[in-house]
Amino acid sequence: MSLSSYLKDIKDAATSLFEGFAITSSHLVRKPVTIQYPDKTPRPVSDLLPERSRSWLRVEMDICTACLNCEKNCPIDCIKIVTDKDESLGRVMTHFDIDMAKCMYCGLCTEPCPTGAIHFIPEFERAAYSLDSMVERFVPEDGKIVPYKPPKKDKVEEVKVEEAKDNA
Ligand code: SF4
Ligand code: SF4
Repeated sequence: MSLSSYLKDIKDAATSLFEGFAITSSHLVRKPVTIQYPDKTPRPVSDLLPERSRSWLRVEMDICTACLNCEKNCPIDCIKIVTDKDESLGRVMTHFDIDMAKCMYCGLCTEPCPTGAIHFIPEFERAAYSLDSMVERFVPEDGKIVPYKPPKKDKVEEVKVEEAKDNA
């Protein structure tokens, strides 16, 4: 090996060493792109999620009509609704369970819901130790919920007319 090629190798090694240090050092002063979760976020993480994120399912039982559309539309049978006849209350729901461990967050159950009772909420911190605790139960144990009855169409029209009169 000639002296000139030996010196060239030393120069190349020093150059690549310097470039490596320069790249590493530049990261020391860059703004981090990651967030220290969960205690150093500017706002709660649920507030930072996109508006239409699919994080967890909730059912507003006070506007659920027990139409079973969501149950029928779930392609993998995550939803189980049980209805019964009560002597004094009439038709009631005794179970409304969603197995979130099975759910694939496709949203197909939310689309046919006539009242918007079943919907996603920006909540995702639901790690659990057992699969059973991932089952969301919207009817309390041994409880009964009377399905919501939406006002009839002509009643809705009447309300609209009244509102229009009030605003005139
Ligand atoms: S999001 Fe999809 S998988 Fe989950 S319960 Fe609804 S329909 Fe079923
Ligand atoms: S959540 Fe909606 S679709 Fe499901 S049973 Fe209730 S009203 Fe029907």
